[in-house]
Amino acid sequence: MGLVPAKEMLIKARKEGYAIGHFNINNMEWIKAILLAAEESNSPVILGVSEGAAKYMTGFKTVVNMVEGIMEYMKITVPVALHLDHGSYEGAKACIEAGFSSVMFDGSHYDIDENIQKTKDIVKFANERGISVEAEVGSIGGEEDGILGGGEVADPKECKLIADLGVEMLAAGIGNIHGKYPENWQGLRLDVLKQINDITGNMPLVLHGGTGIPNDMVKEAITLGVAKINVNTECQLVFADATRKYIEADKDLQGKGFDPRKLLAPGTQAIVDIVKEKIALFGSLDKA
Ligand SMILES: [Zn+2]
Repeated sequence: MGLVPAKEMLIKARKEGYAIGHFNINNMEWIKAILLAAEESNSPVILGVSEGAAKYMTGFKTVVNMVEGIMEYMKITVPVALHLDHGSYEGAKACIEAGFSSVMFDGSHYDIDENIQKTKDIVKFANERGISVEAEVGSIGGEEDGILGGGEVADPKECKLIADLGVEMLAAGIGNIHGKYPENWQGLRLDVLKQINDITGNMPLVLHGGTGIPNDMVKEAITLGVAKINVNTECQLVFADATRKYIEADKDLQGKGFDPRKLLAPGTQAIVDIVKEKIALFGSLDKA
């Protein structure tokens, strides 16, 4: 199966009360690991790509070709969406033209009128081509690829205005943060999430900053309409940790342990393991 838009998998998740994992990719190891975990879990999956990560991988077209090639080689059968994460207006259009099956246009840093106007444009451009769109209201705290969010909590009325533009999914700031959560973090504003869910109807909601949110809070958010959960930092942390252990154990100094296929293997396996764990937590196991 080739890439699919995120729309159908999100509607099903929302209806049946689970969430689809969105895992950010950085290179071939990340793509292989996440696809393997999804296939072995028989779960739909969303591969997220920030504009910075796409630049690192030498452009949107390369990302599309690499993901499609790896999917074909691995004989992936579960639904896979390739999704631009926190896209700019120009970036979202460029991704659609390059073959992404889903895009996020993050207009949360504009005032609400400009966010509405630009989101509307992207929805029109995307829908004409069968591509799904994620919009954002109220910025997510912390930094992601140079985009700094103050962590403001979304206004449910503004969420309704954006949700009504024809987007397939909506990200709303509810106290979630990119990166590691600080020790004095106050937790998700589930009260606000409930208001957003009530006012936007059946809109699949997106929870960014999925690393470090306690499991029970994640599960409660899913009951309040969250159908897509973004995980990025956690894969990076487990990859770095496993690689550190390999090198600290001097394994790169033994035999051909310096071979990148050996050196990167423990980190790659750590990503497979954490993605499987998240899929089970989000409830999308066997939902392909
Ligand atoms: Zn995000």
